[in-house]
Amino acid sequence: MSKLKIISVRPQWQQELAQSFTDPQQLARFLNLPQQWVAQHEAARRLFPLRVTRHFASLMEPGNTGDPLLLQVLPHANEFIEREGFITDPLAEQNTGKNGVLHKYKSRVLVILRGGCAINCRYCFRRHFPYADHHFGQAELAQLLTLIEQDPNINEVILSGGDPLMATDQHVAQLLTKLEQVPQLKRIRIHSRLPVVLPSRLTESLAQRLASSRLQAILVLHINHPNEISPQLTQALLFWAQAGITLLNQSVLLAGVNDDAKVLTELSEMLFSARVLPYYLHQLDRVAGASHFAVSDAVARALLQQLQANLPGFLVPKLVREVAGEPSKTPL
Ligand code: SF4
Repeated sequence: MSKLKIISVRPQWQQELAQSFTDPQQLARFLNLPQQWVAQHEAARRLFPLRVTRHFASLMEPGNTGDPLLLQVLPHANEFIEREGFITDPLAEQNTGKNGVLHKYKSRVLVILRGGCAINCRYCFRRHFPYADHHFGQAELAQLLTLIEQDPNINEVILSGGDPLMATDQHVAQLLTKLEQVPQLKRIRIHSRLPVVLPSRLTESLAQRLASSRLQAILVLHINHPNEISPQLTQALLFWAQAGITLLNQSVLLAGVNDDAKVLTELSEMLFSARVLPYYLHQLDRVAGASHFAVSDAVARALLQQLQANLPGFLVPKLVREVAGEPSKTPL
């Protein structure tokens, strides 16, 4: 009797994810960067590993050590700088949540659905987060549902991470099915940077599942620079928008990357062309290892004024800072 061989075909985005760069020298060769320059900074990968998809790397300018996308991912010696006020847990999250659930805001509960990301952003406020302690499985789902049912104020679930879209479509759909059965819930929100670094992650099947839900679905992207918006991403976002998913974007203000009114103006314009509304422009969370990305409040406010002059109001993101323990983001 012949044996049947079962071949599981991974979705395209998972195949692309497996091709990611994790070695700075390999990335340097791909981008034709001076290998000695990369070697000078390589030790910082011990603090936070390099991870970047080939798609995101393909959007960088070869040979440019100051490329705004490269600066967001390449380990840098500046990460060893210790600066007062820059700490490992700037939002005091590490002891407040358990079992993958953070209940920071009155009407919303945040689920750390998956710990991993498709890209390691050097400025990430969760770069020291103990993801291994925050597993979200069946037992944690049952606890989440109990938490929601016991608190009538909660009407929205936010899927976060890491990156929640590291979960498969089936996993997200199963969770959605459970949440749809809780009458008090109105919305599901997904915070993800994955579409930017892997546009193929925006599958049509996931868009259709979310669009057919009784919960209103919102996808909050994380895009910092117009060069991150590739034609593939725009095309996928247009499909999601047409399916009925609300699309928003949040950016982090980063020195050397996007602390420039012209860059931020172009970002807002390009987002809107892809049916995405600019939502927040965040001041950097003061995480240890990222102080070289900090922009002063005075510069941030001056940039906001220029954006207000350049753009219609609906394309100006809210300039905010997250303060540990505050019930909402703090406008600057
Ligand atoms: S994708 Fe988001 S959570 Fe992941 S490293 Fe970047 S900023 Fe942090």
